[in-house]
This record gives sequence, structure tokens and C-alpha cells, in this order.
Amino acid sequence: MTDRDTKAPHDLEVVRRFINTLDVEDGVDLLEGIEESARWLREQGLLDNEDTFTANDAQKMTTFREALRGLLGARHSGSQLSPETVDRLDEVARAAGLTAQIHDQRWVLKSCSPGVDGALGKLVVIMLNAISDGTWDRLQVCENDRCQWAFYDHSRSHTGRWCSMSVCGNRAKQRAWRARQTNPST
Ligand SMILES: [Zn+2]
Repeated sequence: MTDRDTKAPHDLEVVRRFINTLDVEDGVDLLEGIEESARWLREQGLLDNEDTFTANDAQKMTTFREALRGLLGARHSGSQLSPETVDRLDEVARAAGLTAQIHDQRWVLKSCSPGVDGALGKLVVIMLNAISDGTWDRLQVCENDRCQWAFYDHSRSHTGRWCSMSVCGNRAKQRAWRARQTNPST
């Protein structure tokens, strides 16, 4: 899967990249080890070099990633957000130490906890800002269950359902077409 025209604006792209650290279709996980996970956070500027990072932190990170995939997946028709997913998301926000501060004469939200809690909290702040500026609703995960790639919906109608019309969109159309051939009444 390539990124094509699916990049999100501003910092929201970091959230999109975070969700896509797991390629569901190929099973390739960029956060497979502790070192890899810490490196990813440092490369995004979310974790300081001197911050320690444990196996538990790596676990927190992948749990949060999958909860975010669940949050976006719950936008699909007929889908629901599970109570476990809500708990996991709330837990990350609680641990982040979110605080409002005055910066350049305006209130800004900051994630003040050290280590991985603060790093994941920075992602929460990015998402809250994206809700404020209206970009959050356009971050989607592909409706193809085997894909679930996070993409930014640049479509004018805001109705993008697949990461790529030419790949997952066509697959869905072909499935619907085959279903109609087997059962023409539907
Ligand atoms: Zn897809």
C-alpha cells in the first residue's frame, strides 16, 4: 500500500502515520519491538531522547494505536465503538496530564506527563485541535476489513470509504457484483 493522496494536513498526519505503523494487510508492524517503538516516537518528536521506554510503554502504544483504529472504524455504517475501546482511549487521555496554558496570548492544551504517557498525550492534543479546525472528521480508516489503512478523505463530498478507489474500492465493487450474480434478487 502506498500513501498516494491520502496525507492528512498539519500535525494530523502524525496520527495517520501512527495508525499506519501496522499494515493490517501485510502484517508488517513498525512497532514490533521496544526499540522500534521508542525510535518511532523520537523520530516524530513526541518523545525526548533521555526518556526511558519499557516493554509496558510499547504495549501502551500499540493498544492505543488499535483503539484509535477502532475509533475511526466505528464511523463505518453499522459499526459501534466498544466499551473496551472507550476505556483505552479515556485511559490515555487521563494519563497524559492535559493542561491548558497561555501561549502567545491564547489558550493551548498541553500534554504534561513525562515519557510515553506524555508522548501519546501529544497525539490526543493533535486530535483535539483537529476536531476544532474541522479536519478530524476526514481522517478515516479503509472500510475494507483486510486493509483498514488510515487515510485523509480529500473527496469534495466527504464520502470516501476506501484508502484507494483503484484498490479497495474496486475490490468492494467486485464483491458486490459477484454477490448480485449469485443472488440476483439482492
Ligand atoms: Zn484499503
